[in-house]
Amino acid sequence: MNPLHGKTALVTGSSRGIGAAIARRLAADGARIAVHYVRSRDAAEALAAELGNGSFTVGGDVATDGAAIVAATIAEAGRLDILVNNAGVYAPDSDARQLYAVNVVGLLEVTLAALPHLGEDARIVNVSSVLGRHPAPGTAAYSGTKAAVEAITVAHARELGARGIRVNAVAPGLTETDMSAMNPPEAIAAMVGMTPLGRIGRPEEIADAVAFLAGPGGAWITGETLAVSGGIRP
Ligand code: NDP
Repeated sequence: MNPLHGKTALVTGSSRGIGAAIARRLAADGARIAVHYVRSRDAAEALAAELGNGSFTVGGDVATDGAAIVAATIAEAGRLDILVNNAGVYAPDSDARQLYAVNVVGLLEVTLAALPHLGEDARIVNVSSVLGRHPAPGTAAYSGTKAAVEAITVAHARELGARGIRVNAVAPGLTETDMSAMNPPEAIAAMVGMTPLGRIGRPEEIADAVAFLAGPGGAWITGETLAVSGGIRP
């Protein structure tokens, strides 16, 4: 079964972490992947080669190059069926401008550039965070960016429903990547303590939820945010 056979997916920030797992999962379902990176070119090229299906790489900073990232995808693949807005940064509140530039403005600009290319039954999946609805002390700016991602998801779902485009989000809890490794061990232990399933998540588990929303199972779902968090309620 290759439910995504013939489809092209742009996964922003898929050189590593959750994005790389999403790229692998969508490729396993048959999609051709635009593996996107900003710095990790070698990792992105290695992943595109591993994935097959004609997968290829696209570089660029989502904060400044959204239109160019989409244009490069269209130039290579000639179509775009699935957009996964995964690229994101986590930083202290003092870096609020950078957080909003990447996590919010970047997501919006990539999406706006993609819209003219998306046909009926296209999917947009945004990567939020449980912090978007359940902000933790010391994460005001980051949590604010993810609350914005959820609002954008609902607005775009309402706007694009008439075109048959489904727009949803996933809200991961703490997930094992370079980003989560920035947390001090006591913060990780506290998160695990709040998690009914009692551990942090794996990138592949987030990817499974994205594949569901991007595939046939997500056909009647739009404007939702699905927590993928081991039971932490956003
Ligand atoms: P990582 O830091 O492991 O990877 C980030 C990815 O985003 C990389 O591919 C990186 O590219 C890319 N990226 C970073 N900044 C930019 C930019 N300015 N322009 C383009 N690409 C960029 O992060 P995760 O995999 O952990 O996170 C992925 C998403 O999941 C993010 O949106 C994050 O907020 C969200 N999330 C993560 C959680 C976690 O615990 N890990 C929990 C909840 C949500 P490069 O390799 O080239 O630098």
